[in-house]
Amino acid sequence: MATRVRYAPSPTGNQHIGGVRTALINYLYARSTGGVFILRLEDTDRTRYADEYVKNLYDTFAWLGFYWDEGPDRGGPVGPYIQSERFATYKEYAEKLVAMDKAYYCFCDEERLEKLRESQAASKTGDQGYDRHCRNLSQEEIDRSLADGRRYVIRLKIPLEGTTVFNDKLLGTIEWKNEDISPDPVLLKSDGFPTYHLANVVDDHLMGITQVMRAQEWIPSAPLHRIMYDAFGWEMPELCHLPMVLGQDGHKLSKRHGATAVNEFRKAGYLPEALINYIAHLGCSFEEGRDLFTLGEMEKLFRIEKLNKAPAVFDYQKLEWFNGQYIRLKSDAELAALVKPFLVEAGLRAADDAKADALELAAMPLVRERLKLLSEAPAMMTYLYRQPELPAAEEFIPKKKDLAAAIAMLEENRSLVGNTDFSVIEAAENRFKERSVEIGAKLGDLLMPLRVAITGSRVSPPLFESIRILGAETSIARIEAAIAHLGGGK
Ligand code: GLU
Ligand code: ZN
Repeated sequence: MATRVRYAPSPTGNQHIGGVRTALINYLYARSTGGVFILRLEDTDRTRYADEYVKNLYDTFAWLGFYWDEGPDRGGPVGPYIQSERFATYKEYAEKLVAMDKAYYCFCDEERLEKLRESQAASKTGDQGYDRHCRNLSQEEIDRSLADGRRYVIRLKIPLEGTTVFNDKLLGTIEWKNEDISPDPVLLKSDGFPTYHLANVVDDHLMGITQVMRAQEWIPSAPLHRIMYDAFGWEMPELCHLPMVLGQDGHKLSKRHGATAVNEFRKAGYLPEALINYIAHLGCSFEEGRDLFTLGEMEKLFRIEKLNKAPAVFDYQKLEWFNGQYIRLKSDAELAALVKPFLVEAGLRAADDAKADALELAAMPLVRERLKLLSEAPAMMTYLYRQPELPAAEEFIPKKKDLAAAIAMLEENRSLVGNTDFSVIEAAENRFKERSVEIGAKLGDLLMPLRVAITGSRVSPPLFESIRILGAETSIARIEAAIAHLGGGK
């Protein structure tokens, strides 16, 4: 049987690392088995729902660049793929369960439930949840209440004794005592809306889902779902609860650890390939001794057996390293296109500026090795667009030298730069070397003040390449500005 798996997010927040990990594992599983990957929007929680979260979902996956085969925006044979468009179906199935005596009408009003909660809290018996008051109403009572138009919910009959067993592909057999399962959870609310459990089980069945792969926080729902599948007489999909993703302190990954929303990573200058590669490796290994994989490679290599049981730790530094690696793989033109929005945003250039485009294309070899995040590009490249702010005089002074020496070096550089051809970097370097010997200075002492004058900093992208890009005129103007800044002059 062809595999059919799904990502079933609730649009109650922006897409974050955990969700994307679930989606990605499902996607890889579908691809590696020649199956189908489905997107289903579980938008039954109308109080926490917002359109912007749906938009964020589509934007996020468009940016990440992997897609579902069936879904709200793509259609498919078992739609609609949005739960709010399927409400009639859920009601029908909830009523089927009632007819089969696997579920029942509960007419308890909020007032009674509130009193129940209060008395449970006061009693110290530890009793919690619904007291099954309506589980054994007579047919007469039920008919009368329905005829009176009383509001009701439909609750699942959890067996009072025994255990419920299900198998998890990763964790093995899991057994729950029925008495530990929430007493008779609501399947259909009084406004006719389904709860997560009802909609999720009915849809997984009707959509032909063969494997459910989702976060471990859903394990407590699994016994309940098992009971529902059995009640309907349906085969339950195979379950596989994915290893948790923790922060470095061992707690579940959250905002306290850093960014978790995908759009934050995007803004910070991560590449989708790096994020996908890293996220796929959370709790999953693809091949010993190798870190970088394309999506296509992972599609072939993925196996459920390669998932770890142990939780994964989200390492921001490792992700940054991945990102740097992916930046190195970009061509000049690709990288220039990627950093451009960051440079525009920083106000260094207009979106439409052919001169800036050319400058950046030439500058990519200078910054590629140094960038870990695209967002670092503006600070690294500012000096290419404008005269940098000059630091304090000490920054220009070579070790064991003084201000006068720094000014002398800059003056030497002024004429050197004017007389050197920078089109062949090595030749230019040789010329500076020769000159340093002639004047009895260390090459480093000659170049250091020049670097600060040109780039504004002692640490910068390669100096001669920078001068080549800026041109002699601009470079000399900067040297002169530095001389003036240090109080020297003609
Ligand atoms: N709507 C649930 C969520 O937000 C789906 C859980 C599941 O995959 O069963 O994650
Ligand atoms: Zn009741």
